Amino acid sequence: MSAKIIDGNAIARLVRAEWRERVRALHEAGVTPGLAVIVVGDNPASHVYVRHKTRACADLGMHSEKHEFRDDAAEHEVVRRIAQLNADARIHGILVQLPLPPHFDARRVLEAIHVEKDVDGFNLYNVGALVAGQTVFPPCTPFGVLCMLEYSRIPIAGQNVVVVGASNIVGKPMAMMLMKRDATVSICHVKTRDLAQYTILADILVVAAGKPDLITAPMVRTGAVVIDVGINRLPDGRLVGDVDFEGVKAKASHITPVPGGVGPMTVTMLLVNTIQAAERHAGLAVRAASDLVPGFA
Ligand code: NAD
Repeated sequence: MSAKIIDGNAIARLVRAEWRERVRALHEAGVTPGLAVIVVGDNPASHVYVRHKTRACADLGMHSEKHEFRDDAAEHEVVRRIAQLNADARIHGILVQLPLPPHFDARRVLEAIHVEKDVDGFNLYNVGALVAGQTVFPPCTPFGVLCMLEYSRIPIAGQNVVVVGASNIVGKPMAMMLMKRDATVSICHVKTRDLAQYTILADILVVAAGKPDLITAPMVRTGAVVIDVGINRLPDGRLVGDVDFEGVKAKASHITPVPGGVGPMTVTMLLVNTIQAAERHAGLAVRAASDLVPGFA
């Protein structure tokens, strides 16, 4: 067997085409969806991600602005800027690029973002809403994974799903979203004993650990769907995921590549969340994200 490749770039293009229409409808109502991105310090990867996000906004006809702070900026300066952006009617979504420098309390900064503009979904209100099944803004990376499964017509209800990685950004919200869609979910993490005894049971395996080659072919069930969220830069400069792509491809039914898998979907879902925030703000009838990913609330 050679797995079908789930092409994140192609799916992202389809989703963006659909949402470009919704931006057009907002323009007709006199509204341009606006995203503000805050970046602190000079982490080169952060600046690359922010560039992707602002370019993607332009591509869909959205307004975006970057607010840069030096590495030694004080936390209260960033919080003050967030307060200004909370009050700015042109801005519908605010995102703080993580990681923040060590002298910042990231939680305090994220809590400063108004819940209705928290397009990353990291504010505690939005985290709680996700757990209670009342999602306002689904966190972008797991939302992108769900969307990929949907576009690839992979059933979720009743499936055994194993999520490797339990971070607040990827693993935990991913598990919540899949549970909401009636999957049987197991979450593994760095302290899990004998990871393979779990992964081998997965109909759908989502890996977000940040460890190259963590998942090899013997750990994967024949015909499984394998979603690789990991992004790792090897010493030779190559970008790889957490899955031994070539080995696992021979055994899985579907697999996502790195790059070109989950990455482009994450940026796309950020746009989706920002457009929805603008629709809510404009009082337009919001067609929920459930239109995009049926059954999703
Ligand atoms: P994190 O470091 O916050 O969390 C990693 C999780 O993996 C932890 O729960 C840890 O317990 C678990 N883990 C680590 N080593 C493990 C092991 N050997 N066995 C089992 N579990 C293990 O990382 P994160 O922010 O969740 O990101 C995870 C990966 O996903 C990283 O490579 C990151 O770059 C990538 N990522 C990609 C996107 C995207 O858009 N594609 C978005 C976010 C994160």
